[in-house]
Amino acid sequence: MQLFKTLIDYPEAISLVLENTPRLPVACVPLMEARELALSEDIRARFDSPPFDNSAVDGYAVRSADAEAGRIFKVVDEAPAGRPAQKEVGEGEAIKIFTGGVVPRGADAVVMVENTSGWGEEFELKKAAEADQNLRAAGEDVRKGDLILRAGTEVGAPEIALAATQGYGELSVYRKPKVVILSTGSELVEPGTRALSPGEIFDSNSFALLAQALEAGADASRMVAASDDADALRAAMEQALTSADVVVTSGGVSVGQRDLVKSTLLELGVEQVFWGVKLKPGKPVFFGTRGDARFFGLPGNPVSAMVCFELFVRPALMEMMGREDKRRPRIGVYFDEDVENRFGRMHAMRVNLTGTEKGWRAESVGAQGSGLVSSLTKADALALIGPESEGVRAGELVEAIVLREEVVLAGQQKGERVEIRE
Ligand code: AMP
Ligand code: MG
Repeated sequence: MQLFKTLIDYPEAISLVLENTPRLPVACVPLMEARELALSEDIRARFDSPPFDNSAVDGYAVRSADAEAGRIFKVVDEAPAGRPAQKEVGEGEAIKIFTGGVVPRGADAVVMVENTSGWGEEFELKKAAEADQNLRAAGEDVRKGDLILRAGTEVGAPEIALAATQGYGELSVYRKPKVVILSTGSELVEPGTRALSPGEIFDSNSFALLAQALEAGADASRMVAASDDADALRAAMEQALTSADVVVTSGGVSVGQRDLVKSTLLELGVEQVFWGVKLKPGKPVFFGTRGDARFFGLPGNPVSAMVCFELFVRPALMEMMGREDKRRPRIGVYFDEDVENRFGRMHAMRVNLTGTEKGWRAESVGAQGSGLVSSLTKADALALIGPESEGVRAGELVEAIVLREEVVLAGQQKGERVEIRE
C-alpha cells in the first residue's frame, strides 16, 4: 500500500478538477425535455411578438377619431382570434373583435363591449375612446432578433413559454451528467435489509452522496456497496465506469492495507490527476479520468465524503452542465473568538451562521470529527480556514461556502459576498 507522496492545496485541486472536466456534449431535445437543464446557446426572437396588432379585450374595433360617446356605430364584420376580418373599418363603422383578434385595417382603437349598448348589428358607444386603446402592438413583447434567453439559463416554465411563443419545438441544452455512486467497505450493510452483526455499520454514504448528486441536478443512481475485496471492487468499479460520466466512490482510498480503491482504479486504466489534498476533512480524496469518465474516490468517513462532494464533485457537475449560476454562494464570515488551525491543511469547518450588524457570524457546530453525521444536519456553511495561517482571529473575515442558502436569504443582514470561481 502506497503512502501519499505529496499533498496539494485545495485551490490547486479544484482547478485540476475543473480543468479536467469538460462540458458535456450539447444535445438538441424536445422543448419539454429541456426542463431543468441549462441552455447551451443564446436564443433570439425569430419574429416580432405578438406578430400582429391585436385586441386586448372583447368589443369593437373603431376609428378613435369617430369614437365620441353617444355615437351609433354600424357593425360591418367580425375578427375573432385566429380569423382576421375581411373588411376594413370606415367612418362610423366598427368590427366586432375578440381578445387576440387581428386589429382590422382602418381601426386604431378597441372599445370594450361593456362600454357599449352591447352585441348587435349596431351599438351605441357609451364612453369616448382614445387612439391605441385596448390594443396590443406587434412586437410589444419581444422584437425580432432580441436576445430572449441567455446561454446557461435554466429552462423552467417561463422559459418554455417564451421559447414556444417563438415556435421553438426543440432547445439546445447541456444534458444531465450520469452519476453512479458506489460505497466500498466490507463492514457495510444495506439499510432496511437486516440487523447489524458485530463490527458492521449501515451504508449511509451512498445515500447521502446520491441525495447530493440529485440535488445538484445530476441523473444519479447508486450501486449496492462493494466489499474490500479486490475482485469485487474491480467488477463494481468497472461496471460503474462503463455506465457513467462521473463515478463517485466512498471509502477505501486512504493508506490502510484494505484500501484498494486507488490501486484497483489504476489497474482499470483510470489516470490519476491527484491523490491527497491538504484538506480536513477529506485528505485522501482521489481524482482521475478514464476516457470521458471522471472518477472521484472520496474518503469513507461520512463527513469527509459529504464535504468532499461539496468541494469537488458538485463544482464538477455544475461545470459539466454549464450551471455556473448554481454554484454555492460564498460569503465572508467572522468568528467571535480566535479559531486555531494547527493541522497544516485547510479546515472546512462546519459552522452555523447568524446575521449580525457586523455581517455573518460563524460558530462551530461543535465537535468536528469526520464521523459525526449528526453534525452535518446542524451546519449552515463550511468556513474555509487555512492552511497558510494557523487560524483566524476574532472578527477577521474568512470565506465560507453556504450550504443552506435559505439561511442567508432569510438573514436581515447580508455579509460581504466573496465571488470566487470554484
Ligand atoms: P475508509 O475510508 O474506508 O477507511 O472508511 C473510514 C471510515 O468511514 C470507517 O469508519 C468506515 O467504516 C466509515 N465508512 C466507510 N464507508 C462508509 C459508508 N458507506 N457509510 C458509512 N460509513 C462508512
Ligand atoms: Mg473502508
